[in-house]
Amino acid sequence: MSHNVAAKSAVPNKLVIRNIGLLLSGDLDHPILDADTVVAIDGIIHAVGKEKDIDTAGATTTVDAKGTALAPGLIDSHVHPVCGDWTPRQNQLGWIDSCLHGGVTTMVSAGEVHTPGRPKDIVGLKAMAIFAQRSFQAFRPGGVKVYAGALVLEQGMVEDDFKELAAAGVKLLGEVGLGSVKDGITGRRMVHWARKYGIQSTIHTGGPSIPGSSLIDKDMVLETDADVVGHINGGHTALPDDQIMDICLRSPRALEIVHNGNERAALLALRTAREVSHLDHVILGTDSPAGSGVQPLGILRMISMLSSLGEIPAEIAICLATGNTAKMRSLNCGLIAAGREATFVFLDTAQQSAGKNLLDSIQKGDLAGVSMVIIDGMVSIQRSRNTPPATRVPEVVGA
Ligand SMILES: [Zn+2]
Repeated sequence: MSHNVAAKSAVPNKLVIRNIGLLLSGDLDHPILDADTVVAIDGIIHAVGKEKDIDTAGATTTVDAKGTALAPGLIDSHVHPVCGDWTPRQNQLGWIDSCLHGGVTTMVSAGEVHTPGRPKDIVGLKAMAIFAQRSFQAFRPGGVKVYAGALVLEQGMVEDDFKELAAAGVKLLGEVGLGSVKDGITGRRMVHWARKYGIQSTIHTGGPSIPGSSLIDKDMVLETDADVVGHINGGHTALPDDQIMDICLRSPRALEIVHNGNERAALLALRTAREVSHLDHVILGTDSPAGSGVQPLGILRMISMLSSLGEIPAEIAICLATGNTAKMRSLNCGLIAAGREATFVFLDTAQQSAGKNLLDSIQKGDLAGVSMVIIDGMVSIQRSRNTPPATRVPEVVGA
């Protein structure tokens, strides 16, 4: 919360990050930029380039990156928050703050379905979505932005419900299939109403996640046509290979791969999406908290797993968790480019990694070390308490 207050004060908050060794843009088309300096004003990126070409005077905060890598803050496209920084699924406190220490600065809810006593009547579920949206808009653990209030569809909803929700500020549907809507015809009708009023949708893909949920197969995914094919690699039980490949080929929507899914199916989805030139549709999430727990390093682990076993360059794997997700979900973070949110993660080779540099270490399957996180132009954390220690750490040299 202090982030926004500071950003709107009378004196412009000018952040200068200099001596960047490797600038990872998050943009699939230009994943590495020839730049060593970033300037942000009032939480928005103003300039990216060579220090000699950029006006760095009058900084209110200067960070010497010490030759480390700068990437956009990581986005988790699939979380199940409930209330505050608590999850009842594994009865854990501080899970969002723990993920911040894994470089995650933005989270998107796929439904607050773990809420004890979750209402399933229409007025109750609408009230809960509005409550969650408001609550997480105002509450940002460590500065992390949690886009929540992701309504779970139930039978009996009508178009006016979506109109009313949109007017109240609800912008997301949770996973279609977690409620009582389990057929493609009803799903498609409701997703269409949601889209009409600017509400983005996700569908559960694969076998049941917990007792009470059910199978969503390829036909329902394609018929419902939600904006995001949620966990195409299952959450955790995946569809048969031919169905996953067919969705990658035929769906024009985002193809989400999650940590708490089937890892073999994740690699199949990645390879198929790349073969059919849909790599720009691939986005990453954890699908946590869940039965598999909470993974503070889940997005970093996905980047290393997909890069090392999926054989994609590390700088490309990072785009899946940043620029791709921002594009598919219409977020103003995820890219290091003028006009974007000044939200960054500093990365360096983990100490003693066999990799000869950061990108090589990721391609060899090691995790990157997080050494600082900046959200909206403000330093949120310095050396991560959760990642393997970064070899070099940036330093705040003037404030
Ligand atoms: Zn799911």
